[in-house]
Amino acid sequence: MSSSHSTTFTTFYNTINGTLRTSNTTYTSTNPATGTTLPEAPVASSADLDEAVVAANDAFVTWKSTTWKHRSELLAKLAALIAEHAPSLTDLLIAETGKPRFLAQAEIQIAQDTLLHFASLQPVEHTVLDENISKVVHTTFEPIGVVGAICPWNFPIAMPMNKLGPAIQAGNSIILKPSPFTPYTLPKICEIAQQLFPPGVIQCLGSSDDDESHKLGSLMTQHPGIGKISLTGSVSTGKKVMAACAGTLKRVTLELGGNDACIVCPDVKDIEHVAGEIVLSAFLNTGQVCVATKRVYIHEDVYGVVRDAIVKKVGEMKVGDGAAEDGVMVGPVQNRMQFEKVKGLVDEVKELGYEVLTTGEKYGFDGVGEGKQEGGYFLPLMVVDNPPRESRLVREEQFGPILPLLRWSSESEVVHWANDTPTGLSASVWSGDIARARRIAAQLDVGSVYINSTQKPSFQGLFGGHKESGIGVEFGQAGLLQYCNAKSTYISF
Ligand code: NAD
Repeated sequence: MSSSHSTTFTTFYNTINGTLRTSNTTYTSTNPATGTTLPEAPVASSADLDEAVVAANDAFVTWKSTTWKHRSELLAKLAALIAEHAPSLTDLLIAETGKPRFLAQAEIQIAQDTLLHFASLQPVEHTVLDENISKVVHTTFEPIGVVGAICPWNFPIAMPMNKLGPAIQAGNSIILKPSPFTPYTLPKICEIAQQLFPPGVIQCLGSSDDDESHKLGSLMTQHPGIGKISLTGSVSTGKKVMAACAGTLKRVTLELGGNDACIVCPDVKDIEHVAGEIVLSAFLNTGQVCVATKRVYIHEDVYGVVRDAIVKKVGEMKVGDGAAEDGVMVGPVQNRMQFEKVKGLVDEVKELGYEVLTTGEKYGFDGVGEGKQEGGYFLPLMVVDNPPRESRLVREEQFGPILPLLRWSSESEVVHWANDTPTGLSASVWSGDIARARRIAAQLDVGSVYINSTQKPSFQGLFGGHKESGIGVEFGQAGLLQYCNAKSTYISF
C-alpha cells in the first residue's frame, strides 16, 4: 500500500457509469462551524438517475458472476485507498460536518473497518437431504441486482459503508445518494472507487435540499430498475420510503431513528465512570447519533449524586470549532434545519420553566449565521432536571445536545417508561448486579441493549431496530443476506 498523502479536494462530481459528471444544477453546503460556503456539488437530474440505473443493471450482468474472493479483494483495496487518502478525506469530513478532528478520523477508520468486515464474509450455502431422502435441497444466495443507498448526514461515510460493503460483497451494483447536507466526502470516496471497480458497479448521485427537496431519493424509491433500497434516516422518511418501495415491491432495509433510554440502578458501581460514559454517549457528535443516549432514568436513591456527576462531566466538555481549536470534544449541530429543530426544544424547555442544570454561556443562539465562530450552528450542552415524562424533550428524538434526566423508583415502572415510545433502537442498563441488569434488559423492546456500557455496536452483534426504528439488520451473515435473494434448488435422484 502506498503511503498516505494530502490533497485539498475542491471539485465534486456525480459518478455515472465510471465517469465523473458535472451537472447544470449545483448545490453548496455550509461549514456548520464557521458558516463558510463550501464548494459546488452537482445535483443529479432524473435523466442522470435513469442513466445510472441502466449502467448499474448492465454492470450487474457480469459483476454478479465474479467470485466472492475477487469482490472481497476489491473491498479491501478500497479500504486501503481510503486509508491512503485519509488526511484529505478527514479535512473534507470536518468541513462538511463540523466534527472535531478525532471524531472525523474515527469515522474514516470505521469506514475502512466496515469494508474489511464485509470483505471477510460469504453467505453460508447449505445442502440437506429432504425428508424422503430421494432428493437434496441446495440453498444458495444470489445478489438482488441494483441497490439504492439513501444516506444521512450525521455519519456521512460510516453509514454508507454499511450499505456499500454488503451490497458489493454480495455481488450487487449500487447507486449511493449522500444527504444534501453532506454532499462532499461520500462522492469523493465513490470517485476514488472508480480506480478499482468496473463502470456502473459503484455510482453516486447528489441531491439538494431546495424546494425539490429529496426528489432524487424519492425517484430512487420508485424506480423499477432498482431492486432494493437501503435507507438510514429518520422514521418519517422511512415510512415514505417504504410506501414508495411498495409500488415495485423493492426489498428494503430501514435503519431509522431512536429514543434510547439509559437506566441507572441504585446499586450502580463507580458513579464517576458511569456519568462520564453517559455524557459521551449523549453529547458526542453533538448528540447526532442514532444510538445516542437520549433519556436517562436514574433511581431516586442515587439521583442526586449521578445527576451532579453528569453535570460536572458536561462542564468538562469543550464545545467549539475542532478545526480551529485544540481539545474540542463537541462541534456544532450539522445543519440549519437540525439547529432550528433542537433550538425549538431548548426554547420550549426554557418557556415551560424546566430546570436547566448547565449553562454553556460561551455559545449563545443569537449570533447564528453571522459567519463568526459563534455564528456557526453551536448550541450549549444542556442537561434538564426531571422534566415531565410527557414533555416533547422526553418523548421525541432530540438528535442534539440536550439531555433529560428522570427519576425512577420501581423497576416495572421504569421498564414501562423506557418502552413507552414508538421507536426501539437501543438502550443501556447500569447496575452492580448483572442478574438484575439482565432482567431489566430482557424486558426492553429494542434491537440492542447494553449492560454496563453505553451503546457501542460491534460487527459481532446484529444492528437493527424494533418497532418504528426500522426493518432489517446490519453486520455479519444476517446483514450480508439482506442484500441477497435466497434460492433453493431441489435435486431428485
Ligand atoms: P432524513 O430522513 O431527513 O434523510 C435521510 C436521507 O433520506 C437523506 O439522504 C434524504 O435526502 C433522504 N430522503 C428524505 N426524504 C426522502 C424521501 N421521501 N424519499 C427518499 N429519500 C428521502 O434523515 P437525516 O436527518 O439525514 O438523519 C438523521 C436521522 O437518521 C435520525 O433520525 C437518526 O436517528 C437516523 N439515523 C439512524 C441510524 C441507524 O442506523 N438506525 C443511523 C444514523 C442516523
